[in-house]
Parts: sequence; structure tokens; C-alpha cells
Amino acid sequence: MAGQLNLVLLGKQGAGKGTQSTRLAERFQLAHISTGDILRAAVKAGSPLGLEVKAVMDAGGLVSDELVIRLVEERYQAPDAARGGLLDGFPRTLAQAEALEALLGENGVKLCVNLEVPIDLVTQRLSSRRVCQNCGTNYRDSDESAISGVCAKCGGHVVQRSDDRPEAIRQRLEFYERDTEPLLDFYAARGLLVSVNGDQSPDEVTSDIVAAMHERGLA
Ligand code: AMP
Repeated sequence: MAGQLNLVLLGKQGAGKGTQSTRLAERFQLAHISTGDILRAAVKAGSPLGLEVKAVMDAGGLVSDELVIRLVEERYQAPDAARGGLLDGFPRTLAQAEALEALLGENGVKLCVNLEVPIDLVTQRLSSRRVCQNCGTNYRDSDESAISGVCAKCGGHVVQRSDDRPEAIRQRLEFYERDTEPLLDFYAARGLLVSVNGDQSPDEVTSDIVAAMHERGLA
């Protein structure tokens, strides 16, 4: 795995991690490693893993560290992860961050981007978010695809995520503050943290992230 580029995106749910990870993974030819997407696919497929995690996810809780760490280890075996990964929604706890360090060894994480967005804006974004069950494209509830329920990209079914309902949103944001925010100090202590204003257009956010990568010789 020598010379890999591994980037972590941190930020509250709804900060735009998924959108930015997809763009950056494509641009730098890295694997988009989203534990949320992997888990949702398992739930949709009705696999034993999906059955195990569905209730926790629907309630906005956190799946066990052991389980998600194993999923990330497996994901790094895939050929598209040879050049590195864009980590989206992982790590979410200190134990996961430490496991990631152990997994990546000398490659390590090269940069951790904190997407900063005010809490009332993420709450509003999450409540109005709709997603294609097939290709994962996000829509706003006012978009044509959300109203018709048919994805403009692939024709898949556009729905509201079960964890984008008010009680689960509140729960997820509480977990973020309690378990994930300490990771900001973890990466800052390693000199890897950069904060980017997530309350801008997706293009502006991408360009700020790429500028931070340039500054560090990563792009
Ligand atoms: P996300 O799409 O990243 O918001 O993830 C959706 C849900 O999947 C979360 O609310 C958790 O239930 C679960 N999940 C995703 N990633 C993790 C993780 N790194 N650790 C624990 N649970 C996770």
C-alpha cells in the first residue's frame, strides 16, 4: 500500500461529506469508502449483516466499532483502494481512528478535512434530504425527482432515509458531538486537521479542499 493517499472527511451529518467524497474520489481516483453506504446496501439486500444493523441505524445509533472496522479492512482489499481512500463517515470514534492508523500503517491518513456547518443548517438539510435507493444520489424534498419519487439519474426509487426523521436526526447529532468531535483533537495533534466552511456551494467547498491539499503537496 506504499504511497497511498488517504483522506478523512469529518463533519456533522448533512455537512456534505458524501457529496464532497464522491467528487474527490473521482478526481483523485481514490476509493470512496462510506461505511454508511456499505451498511445501507447490506440492509437493502437483507443480508445477515443488514438484519443485524437495521434497528440501530433506523434509530440513529452507532454500529459497533468491531463491525465497522472489519468492513473498512475488507473495503481496503478492493482494487480501487490501491491508491488510497476517501473516508466518509469513518472513523466516528477514537477506537475507530486508532484502528485506522493500525490498518494503514506507514501510509497513514494524509489529511483530515473538517466540514464546518452550523447545526440549524444541517438539521434543515437532513430533514429535507431525499435519496435514491438505487444509486445514492441526494435530492432536496422540493426537487422534481423527490416529488415524483423517480431518480432523474437512474430511474431508481427516491425516498427519505429512515434516519433522516426528527428523532433519529437529534440522536445522530448527539452521537456526533459526544463520540466524533473528539477526533478533531486527535487529528489536530497529528498536524493533519484542516477546517473548511461547508456553508458554501458544493463547487466552492471542493475548491477549498483541493487548495488545502495543494498546500500540503497532496494535489
Ligand atoms: P451515515 O450515512 O454516515 O450517516 O451512516 C448512517 C448510519 O450508519 C449511522 O447513523 C450509523 O448507524 C451507521 N454507521 C455508519 N458509519 C458508522 C461508523 N463509522 N461507526 C458506527 N456506525 C456507523
